[in-house]
Amino acid sequence: MARLFRSAWRQYRSVPIVYRIGAAFVLGALVGLGVGQPATSLQPVGDLFVRLLEMIIVPIIIFTLLMATRELSPKNLGKVGGQVVLLYIATTAVAIAMGLGMSNLINPGAGMTVEQTDVQTEQTPSLVDQVFNIVPENPFAAIAEGNILAIIFFTLIFGLGMTMVRAEVEPDSAVRNGIDTIFDVVDAGAEVMFKIVWGIMEFGVLGVFALMAALFGEVGVQAISAYFTLSLTLALAIGLQISLVYLLLIIRGAVGASPVAFLRGIKEALITALSIRSSTATLPVTMSDADENLRVEERVYGFSLPLGATINMDGTSMYLGIVAVFAANMAGVSLTLVEQFTILLTALLASIGTAGVPSASLVMMTAVLTQVGLPLEVIGMIAGIDPLLDRLRTMNNIAGDLAVTTVVAKWNDAIDLSSGVWTETPVEFSEESVSVSDND
Ligand code: ASP
Repeated sequence: MARLFRSAWRQYRSVPIVYRIGAAFVLGALVGLGVGQPATSLQPVGDLFVRLLEMIIVPIIIFTLLMATRELSPKNLGKVGGQVVLLYIATTAVAIAMGLGMSNLINPGAGMTVEQTDVQTEQTPSLVDQVFNIVPENPFAAIAEGNILAIIFFTLIFGLGMTMVRAEVEPDSAVRNGIDTIFDVVDAGAEVMFKIVWGIMEFGVLGVFALMAALFGEVGVQAISAYFTLSLTLALAIGLQISLVYLLLIIRGAVGASPVAFLRGIKEALITALSIRSSTATLPVTMSDADENLRVEERVYGFSLPLGATINMDGTSMYLGIVAVFAANMAGVSLTLVEQFTILLTALLASIGTAGVPSASLVMMTAVLTQVGLPLEVIGMIAGIDPLLDRLRTMNNIAGDLAVTTVVAKWNDAIDLSSGVWTETPVEFSEESVSVSDND
C-alpha cells in the first residue's frame, strides 16, 4: 500500500509543476461552479498560498538587487535603469492605446445604463507624494511595511555604497573581506530563496485549486455573461498586446529569439499571476523564471522585475482606458480624441503609482473617470466581475515586465540565449521538483 502510494506520489511529482497548477486551476473552477457557495470555505487554503509567496518577496528583492549592484557600476546601472524605465513607459502607453482602440471598435457598455450605487472614491497619490514615497524615512520601516519602491531605492544605494567602498580600500583589508562576505551571503540567500519558491509552488497546486473553487463558488458564470462585451474587449486587447508587442516586436524583433521559447520560459509566472491576481506576490516566481528559464543575469532582472511589479502595469492601464469608454457608453456620451488622450495620460500616471495587488485598478479608476467627468457608479457595477478580469490584467502586467527585462538584458549582454528555454530541448522544471523530492 505504502509502495503504491509512493509510486503514485512520484508519478505526480514527475509532471511539471506548471501543468499540475494548470489542472488545479481548471478543476478548482469546475468544483466551484458545481458546488457553489460552500466552495468559498476553501478560500483560506488559497490565501495561505499567497501569504507564503508574500513572505519571501522582500528577502528575494534585497538579495537579487544587491547581487545586481555587485556587477553593475553606477554608470551601467543608470544605463540599464534608463532603458528599463523608458520601455516600461512606452509599452504602457501602447497598451492603453490598444485598449482604447479595441473599445472604440467593440463599444462595451453600449445599450446599458448606469445604476446609482455607492462608490468609495480614493485619491491616487500626487506626483510629489509618489516621489517622496520612494525615499524611505526609515529603511527598516520600509522593509517591515513591504514598500517596494523604497526598498529598491535603499538597497540600490546600500549596494552601490558597498561596491564604491570596496574599490577604495586595500585589497586584503578587513573591510573589503567583509563586503565580499556580505555579497557571498547574499548570493547564497538568493539561491535559497529560489529553492523556497518552488517548494511554495508545490503547495500552490492546492492553493490554486482552492482559490478557483472559492471564486467560482462565489461569482458563478453569470458575472461573465453580464459584462460580456467588457470582458471580450479586455481579452482581445490583452491578446493583441502580448502577441504583437511582446512576442513579435520585442522578442522576435528586438531580441531575435523565439516567442514560443519565451512563453515556455515564463509560463510558471503567467499561471501564478492568473491564479493570485497580484504582480507583487508573483514576483518570486517571475524572478525565478527570468533566472532559471530565460537565463537573464541578476544585474538586470534584480532591478527591472521588482520595479516592474510596482510601476509597469500594461494590462491594468489598458483596462482603465477600456472602462472609461465603457462608462462613457453607459452614460451615453462619446469621448473626443482630446479626452481619450487625457485618459491615456492619466491612466499612465495612475498605473505607475499603484502597487501590484489584487483589484488595484478599482482605486485608480476613480482618478481616470473623474479626470474626464464620467460617472463613478460604473466602478461599483464592475466590481463584481473584477476578480475575474483582474487575472487577465495581472498576467499581462507580468508578461510586460518579463518582455522588457529580456530585451534590456539582450542590449546589455546580460542574457544567455544559448541555454535555458532558448535551446532546442526545453528545460522542464520537473527536474528541479524531482531533486527537491529526492531530498525529502
Ligand atoms: N492586480 C493587478 C496587479 O497586481 C493590478 C490591477 O490591475 O488591479 O498587477
